[in-house]
Amino acid sequence: MDPLPTYDDRWQSSLHWQPTEAQHQEFQRLYVAILAANQQINLTRITTPEDFWEKHLWDSLQGVAPWLTEAQAPALKVVDIGTGGGFPGLPVALAFPHWAIALLDATRKKLAILEAACETLGLTNVSFLPQRAEQVAHQPVHREAFDLALLRAVGPVNTCAEYALPLLALGGQAVLYRGQWSAEEEAGLRAILPRLGGELREVRSQTTPLTQGVRHNVILAKVSRTPDKFPRLPGLPAKTPLV
Ligand code: SAH
Repeated sequence: MDPLPTYDDRWQSSLHWQPTEAQHQEFQRLYVAILAANQQINLTRITTPEDFWEKHLWDSLQGVAPWLTEAQAPALKVVDIGTGGGFPGLPVALAFPHWAIALLDATRKKLAILEAACETLGLTNVSFLPQRAEQVAHQPVHREAFDLALLRAVGPVNTCAEYALPLLALGGQAVLYRGQWSAEEEAGLRAILPRLGGELREVRSQTTPLTQGVRHNVILAKVSRTPDKFPRLPGLPAKTPLV
């Protein structure tokens, strides 16, 4: 297996940040661990060093770029909803060792393999929630308990909003990692956010540094309590997103 490229200049020019040498080594160990886990269960199809760098490492971190460059980034309690192979949560856990990252995924087996990989990596700021978001969000210890929710490739934007907002504390934020973004999607999202206690804060766009792909980060803010009826029963937010 070829080593990961460093691309310090690309980190700098796109995110005004670059990993330390120690962090680069940790990213390399993460790459090795994820590829090894991928032999046991299908976690990702993104496996070449360049693809892994751009579509997993860089992409995971571009969503939290504003915190990367803060001199004194606050200690946040973060949930990665639908983490799959650990993205964006694991690169975020490596870049922010003082944050606590909960990886949430309905596929118990994926999380068990990630848990073993994190043990090998000695990652101690990561925890695991092997359940559906709709269930976790109704458990008193987790409801309105997170400062930041991250969601990449988990479904339609209104489905993501219904998963994320009940888990956020007042003042918390969600970063929805999207590819293309349209005025229709934005209008549809704006229409439902008040019912969930959310507000659209910002839409940031980015171009991926190696292949010039389109990325949008949709930032939601939690501005009032989410009514107890949300999220609806397991399966409903995906099957019939709020309109
Ligand atoms: N975020 C990862 C994986 C995306 S695949 C990435 O970007 O690479 C989507 C993942 O979300 C799957 O692993 C699936 O099990 C999980 N998922 C989908 N709906 C979910 C729900 N309601 N609750 C918990 N996990 C969910």
